[in-house]
Amino acid sequence: MTNKGIFFIAAASSVALLFALNVLQVEIGEDLPEADTMAMAPISLGNPAAAATLQTRRPVPPRTAADVPAQPAIYNQHVEVGNGDTLAKLLLRAGVDRTDAHYAIKAMSEYVDPRRIRRGQDVTLTFESAPTSVDARTQNKSDTFIGFAIEPDYKTEVRIARAEDGNFRAEQRAKKLDRVPVRAEGTIDSSLYIAGRDAGVPPVIIARMIRLMSWDVDFQRDIRGGDSFEVMYERVFDKAGKPVYNGAVTFASITLSGKRINIYRHTLEDGTVDYFDENGKASRKALMRTPIDGARLSSTFGKRKHPILGYTRMHKGTDFAAPTGTPIYAAGNGTVAYAGRKGGYGNYIRIRHNGTYETAYAHMKGFARGVRAGTRVEQGQIIGYVGSTGRSTGPHLHYEVLTGGKQVNPLRVKMPSGRTLEGKELASFLAFREKQDRLLASLKGTELAASNND
Ligand SMILES: [Zn+2]
Repeated sequence: MTNKGIFFIAAASSVALLFALNVLQVEIGEDLPEADTMAMAPISLGNPAAAATLQTRRPVPPRTAADVPAQPAIYNQHVEVGNGDTLAKLLLRAGVDRTDAHYAIKAMSEYVDPRRIRRGQDVTLTFESAPTSVDARTQNKSDTFIGFAIEPDYKTEVRIARAEDGNFRAEQRAKKLDRVPVRAEGTIDSSLYIAGRDAGVPPVIIARMIRLMSWDVDFQRDIRGGDSFEVMYERVFDKAGKPVYNGAVTFASITLSGKRINIYRHTLEDGTVDYFDENGKASRKALMRTPIDGARLSSTFGKRKHPILGYTRMHKGTDFAAPTGTPIYAAGNGTVAYAGRKGGYGNYIRIRHNGTYETAYAHMKGFARGVRAGTRVEQGQIIGYVGSTGRSTGPHLHYEVLTGGKQVNPLRVKMPSGRTLEGKELASFLAFREKQDRLLASLKGTELAASNND
């Protein structure tokens, strides 16, 4: 191992260069799909001369004297960690000298414990072939070890490279993974879970889909035989084409008694990711904080002296003073869990919105027609009217938000935005939606590889 001062590697960018070199090889060669290669190709070497030399290199290692090019060439060597192997043994076997191996491994240990290198793990060694001299007798010089790369887990890549000063430095990066869209559909006979499973959808994806649609669908009551679903999600593969996990649900649709509900995963300009229906309305809906019009907030959540009982106690809701008969709205889509008399609450309604949220309405004068336990209600639908039934000093709505059956301060609840996209954001969503629809159509009829990889 000679020539430690590799002339074109600037100290600051040596690790970046090693990354870049590998990418370059792929670009010329094989392996990675186009998208990955293109995304990584722009090289920030900070050294135009280096970039220029890179473009002219071939990745093929020179094997015979006759093949040795006139300039030094970079090439990779892939090795697998064997049974009982250590990284040091592996490097020595590959011709790396003992001192270099020691310091390279030391640099790596900043990110990866050398004792945790496992059998079967791939190590990519990078060498620079010795430059050809005019004097043919110097051609058999050893190649120079530049560094190596290792993948401690499926999403991480650690590269170790020698800097200009001869010292090895390590850098950790997120691995480039392939996200492949997968589509599935099915008819629901008993439950979405079973229908999904029969269509080969991994349980984790079905669970995500149920959670996403729970703002629109009451999975315990709404599903009827003959309803159907469609889903698209990402399967993530590593460079070797091995599936590593199931990614996000990018589209989900459910058809209930002929009514179709679609949701699309979309990234907004500010980087937030949310789910929207086909018109750009957030599918995760916020509960209305004030489920009544023209009311005056008369008491907030917290400790207060009770107006009738006289002692200080926790007020577990929000009070809105309003004239008797003022309409009260459902704060969100859901199912009426209870509608009737309930002690001090008087006429009381509780709505279950999804697995997390419930809202409750008390002291009502009466209920809107057709509103009873089991009724599906939509956000903004009138469910009843302000009154003063139960333990109440005057006409008002006592409103509660519950999570896990417990009253919470509605102002403290971290609720989904419930926004509807507008203007530029809507336009970009609609364009994205069209693209997704085309992708869905193109995936129609493709077999879903049975996959329970989580
Ligand atoms: Zn109250």
